[in-house]
Amino acid sequence: MPTIRLVDITKKFGKGSIAVNHLNLEIKDGDFVSLLGPSGCGKTTTLRMIAGLETPSEGEIYIDDQLVFSDAKGVNVSPDKRNVGFLFQNYALWPHMTVYKNISFGLENMKWPKEKIDARVKEICQTMRIEEYIQRYPSELSGGQQQRVAIARTLAPNPRVLLMDEPLSNLDAKLRNDMRAELKRLHMTTGATFVYVTHDQSEAMTLSSKVCLIKEGVLQQYCPPLALYGEPANLFCADFMGNPTMNFIPCHGIKKDQAVELTCRHFSVLFTPNQPLTLPAEGDYVLGVRPEFVKVRGEEGIEGTVISSLPSGMETTLSLAVKDITLSAVAFGSVDFAMDSVIHFGFEGDRYILFDAQSTENLGLG
Ligand code: ADP
Ligand code: MG
Repeated sequence: MPTIRLVDITKKFGKGSIAVNHLNLEIKDGDFVSLLGPSGCGKTTTLRMIAGLETPSEGEIYIDDQLVFSDAKGVNVSPDKRNVGFLFQNYALWPHMTVYKNISFGLENMKWPKEKIDARVKEICQTMRIEEYIQRYPSELSGGQQQRVAIARTLAPNPRVLLMDEPLSNLDAKLRNDMRAELKRLHMTTGATFVYVTHDQSEAMTLSSKVCLIKEGVLQQYCPPLALYGEPANLFCADFMGNPTMNFIPCHGIKKDQAVELTCRHFSVLFTPNQPLTLPAEGDYVLGVRPEFVKVRGEEGIEGTVISSLPSGMETTLSLAVKDITLSAVAFGSVDFAMDSVIHFGFEGDRYILFDAQSTENLGLG
């Protein structure tokens, strides 16, 4: 049973600007879905419409098969009746209340009995590992501890759906990593549906069961993160996922038996897709190769010059130049190449993606 369903949702602000454009999205019960995309693409607006804090211009929203918004039917269920928890980017704890009070306050407003509140606050503080701070004030806590309290406060009423808007963006890198792991564990233990806004591809990649990648209010792809990485729908999706980013090489393709010969300015490669070729034999394409499939070889392959070599211990990131084409490569381990040295490289197997140069769409031949 789908928990959240957006049907043809559009949001216009003022006269012209369209923040969200005919969005259709089904978030299944227990999913961890990330809304991902560059700043201004409509992530926050989408989340706020699910919460009921923003009114869509058109469309319908269902939560647990209950219609909570419809412009046509004039339905608009208020935020407090939607049984969703919301964690803002700039969450604020009440400074004059203890941790206990910060968490219990909302439950009191919901008229929970006192014993039930007490048990729940203790339970959620245990889950979030903040029991020892229960009588402290926010000013007596570190940023990470405050973040935990904010999450505890949101989780306390046991929402079936937890909406989070870049909740980790104010934390330093180390804490952010710790909290990521914690959120993933929380998702598992609560069994709630998480909808998580982020502009950080690695955050979406590591946390989510599904990623909804948005560009300028338009859904580009909605699938598990590894599928987004491995089978991006178009150039935008391919470019957005991965660091270093995918190499894109403009080329011209001609059909050769069951393969395609791709000729770019300085070299050519033979592409033998797993699937029968359906592409129009000749045309302009963009060859996409992930850096981890660019392999430095002994004496064979394409000749390139090492522009930079950055070993980080576990891996080495290389920048290679073939005349005016620059490619990134990632090699496992610390293999240091001298700058300006000439090496040979190739592309591993047929781990290419071929994009249509015009439509930018993945031709799906890999
Ligand atoms: P994101 O969260 O992906 O960065 P937002 O959902 O905040 O993006 O914004 C999407 C677009 O809608 C942006 O162009 C933004 O300027 C616009 N927008 C958001 N909120 C408002 C508002 N209250 N009034 C006018 N325009 C808005
Ligand atoms: Mg935002």
